[in-house]
Amino acid sequence: MGEKIKMSPDGTLVVPEEPVIPFIEGDGTGVDIWPAARLVLDAAAAKHGRSVDWREVLAGEKAYNEVGDWLPQETIEAFDEHLIGIKGPLTTPIGGGFRSLNVAIRQILDLYVCLRPVRWFKGVPSPVKAPELVDMVIFRENTEDIYAGLEVEAMSPEALKLRTLLEDAFGWKIREDSGIGIKPISKTGSQRLQRAALDYAVAKGKSRVHWVHKGNIMKFTEGAFQKWGYELVREEYADVAVAWADCGGDAGDKILVQDAIADIALQQVLTRPAEFEVIGTMNLNGDYLSDALAAQVGGIGIAPGGNANYVTGHGIFEATHGTAPKYAGQDKVNPSSVLLSGVLMFEHIGWQEAADDIVAALEATIGDKVVTYDFARLMDGATEVKCSEFAHAIVDRL
Ligand code: NAP
Repeated sequence: MGEKIKMSPDGTLVVPEEPVIPFIEGDGTGVDIWPAARLVLDAAAAKHGRSVDWREVLAGEKAYNEVGDWLPQETIEAFDEHLIGIKGPLTTPIGGGFRSLNVAIRQILDLYVCLRPVRWFKGVPSPVKAPELVDMVIFRENTEDIYAGLEVEAMSPEALKLRTLLEDAFGWKIREDSGIGIKPISKTGSQRLQRAALDYAVAKGKSRVHWVHKGNIMKFTEGAFQKWGYELVREEYADVAVAWADCGGDAGDKILVQDAIADIALQQVLTRPAEFEVIGTMNLNGDYLSDALAAQVGGIGIAPGGNANYVTGHGIFEATHGTAPKYAGQDKVNPSSVLLSGVLMFEHIGWQEAADDIVAALEATIGDKVVTYDFARLMDGATEVKCSEFAHAIVDRL
């Protein structure tokens, strides 16, 4: 019988021997990838004398079909109470009252960091020459920016009202048939994200942090993000980190904090990936950057993610791809995205050895060219296996 993970007053997670971890299986291919991932996670945990007391909670189509609710209150309560959870992909209900279930979960639990580590695993087919140079962790702000959902439709009464207000109050002229969106970027939202990125860099012994922004154009939102990031470094991290402007690029044994304009950053992560280690950025930039980077190291079937609030201790880890409905129930797709999200979760709760073992076994499996269809079509001489067979192959190599 498991116990709850708790947050200690000093802000660290207290993880029992057998933690209770709620999971959402996920819609579509969730029925395939979740059991496969769980098999590997359990085997790796067992190797280190640990186990997880998994508790299923419902969301998405399964929830709607079983209890008539896309996102039952009990699911939110379970995640709230147990702090850490994992989920497969969810269908976005059309006309279900939600912009997206994933966004709803992030907002309700105020999971302000979207954590997207991007690294290459030996053997994974990649479109670039030196994918091994890609090893970065993106901290994407999850609650603000143009994603806050503050937008009105062109020609709607709301848009016309807002347009009139902006013209009357600020003299801003906006074309009549415009949709209008609002981009809030706060100091609070920016600095809590930047604090998480800096803390991570310190904890993992990283040497560089980049703030990626488009502050040359959007001065009071993206530009402010950059400014607040440097202020934070000077005010709270001066003993361990230094801004480029304060050291001319020579940070000694401290972490060098610099910034990059988003468009140039998208080029440089491709042409000079080794220069990027930890990236802190806002919602929209983070979205583009994490998918562009995922493509460099093998694409969507393998990219893990997590959403966290480092103050309350909440963290929900998730496959970053969708439900791929055309493959649902075929035992075909690659379970690596949800599996590596589990690895991220194990690292987050301090089960580093189990996490490292999974990564090594996954690399060994891919190295032996035993892969699911998505990699098989990009590799010469691969043995294509089913989703479940791939999981067993990983367990065999643990
Ligand atoms: P998708 O489900 O991510 O699928 C797009 C393509 O990505 C698939 O056709 C497949 O490519 C590839 N793919 C996805 N999962 C894979 C896996 N496990 N292994 C290998 N390849 C994989 O995107 P979508 O079709 O646009 O969206 C379908 C539904 O998912 C929608 O309802 C959407 O709202 C939802 N969604 C949910 C999440 C989430 O829960 N986090 C995220 C995105 C979308 P090939 O066809 O080339 O094989």
